[in-house]
Amino acid sequence: MKKFDVAIVGAGPAGSSLAICLHKSGLKVALIDKSTFPRDKICGDAISPDVVNQLGKMPLGTKEAFMALDKKIWCNAVRFVSPNYHAVDLKLNEEGVNGYVSPRIDFDSFLYKQALLSDAVKDFSGTILKEISTSIDGVCIQLESESIEAKMVIGADGAHSIVKRTFMDEPMDKDHYCAGLRVYYENVSGFSDDNAVELHFYNELLPGYFWVFPLPGNRANVGLGMLSSFVAKKKPNLKKLLQEIIDTHPNVKNRFANAKALEQIQGFGLPLGSKKRVISGDRFLLLGDAASLINPLSGEGIANAIRSGRVAADHIITAFNLGRFDAQFNEAYDKEIYRRLWGELRLNYWMQIAMRNPARCNLILKWAIGNKLVQEAVLSGFSVKKMFAK
Ligand SMILES: Cc1cc2nc3c(=O)[nH]c(=O)nc-3n(C[C@H](O)[C@H](O)[C@H](O)COP(=O)(O)OP(=O)(O)OC[C@H]3O[C@@H](n4cnc5c(N)ncnc54)[C@H](O)[C@@H]3O)c2cc1C
Repeated sequence: MKKFDVAIVGAGPAGSSLAICLHKSGLKVALIDKSTFPRDKICGDAISPDVVNQLGKMPLGTKEAFMALDKKIWCNAVRFVSPNYHAVDLKLNEEGVNGYVSPRIDFDSFLYKQALLSDAVKDFSGTILKEISTSIDGVCIQLESESIEAKMVIGADGAHSIVKRTFMDEPMDKDHYCAGLRVYYENVSGFSDDNAVELHFYNELLPGYFWVFPLPGNRANVGLGMLSSFVAKKKPNLKKLLQEIIDTHPNVKNRFANAKALEQIQGFGLPLGSKKRVISGDRFLLLGDAASLINPLSGEGIANAIRSGRVAADHIITAFNLGRFDAQFNEAYDKEIYRRLWGELRLNYWMQIAMRNPARCNLILKWAIGNKLVQEAVLSGFSVKKMFAK
């Protein structure tokens, strides 16, 4: 049986970032993913300035490689449309921050390739994890065609994490989970000159929103998100609702008059970071969506997935130095994640609660027009600026 120090399950932003950050650790790392890259991931594809900031903190020239990636579009503003259809554009470049939109098929592939630059990493892409079992001195990971052993296993396997389900029994909490839909279009008209990403807060979706994000090649990422507890209560047909907004909503329908859908509407879940969870235990850590670290207001999770990979790398190196892989020691990982993120996640949760009411939502976005402090809070809520997180 092949032996590794660390087995990372999932080579999305969380798992690939961890592998990148372990490149000089001297540890033998298995990077396992059920897909072969490039692979798609249902997402809004927004690469917030916080993502760019995180890439800049990683080794192997990761930010430079991202800047050289041509499959992205630069966005210089965020447009918020309130329930009463007032649009507020908050500019980004005034503060020297850069946001992008890049299809996940390209962005994730770029990050995964960065991870493979490290000699420490053995690539197990295209291999489904079947089962994990623990022994006194490690974990045994049953893949489709072989078994491997490791001292630690890392769950970076997304919203439906098999690593999490193996070690923990935590039912989905609909108050802290969101349903999301995406459909790629071409030829949507009416984007602003500075490629604003647009968030439309329509009454029927609050505190969620409908989005239209520009993409390279005259394409657009179009979608919506709605809190799962609201879906359970109101029981809307979300795919129908998204299509109705595109076809009939007075605020957007003209922009889709000559547009063509490039795929069927697709859906995926977003585990929100609006409540604290246990995200480690004996011989395992959870990262990114497996640890439920998505911004509960904006639905963005890439930056925190990368951040959790960076924090996990430091923790794992210390664990190997001390020979400690037990749950009590691994609690330090949970503490560090929430020390960095909890202030912001909580603030964003409060804003999400405030945005549930259309009148309050109108008011917040109206205030944001002239008030620098409200602008800061709104931009922080949408991961453009960071008030707390490192
Ligand atoms: C509709 C929607 C819109 C979103 N929009 C945005 C946005 O615009 N910006 C943003 O920042 N965030 C957005 N998010 C959130 C973002 O997609 C996630 O937070 C991010 O992908 C988390 O990264 P991750 O590495 O934790 O997980 P993932 O990106 O999901 O990666 C997990 C990896 O694990 C692999 N895997 C899963 N199970 C197994 C298994 N059993 N064996 C082997 N491999 C396995 C998968 O193939 C995958 O490659 C959106 C999410 C949704 C659903």
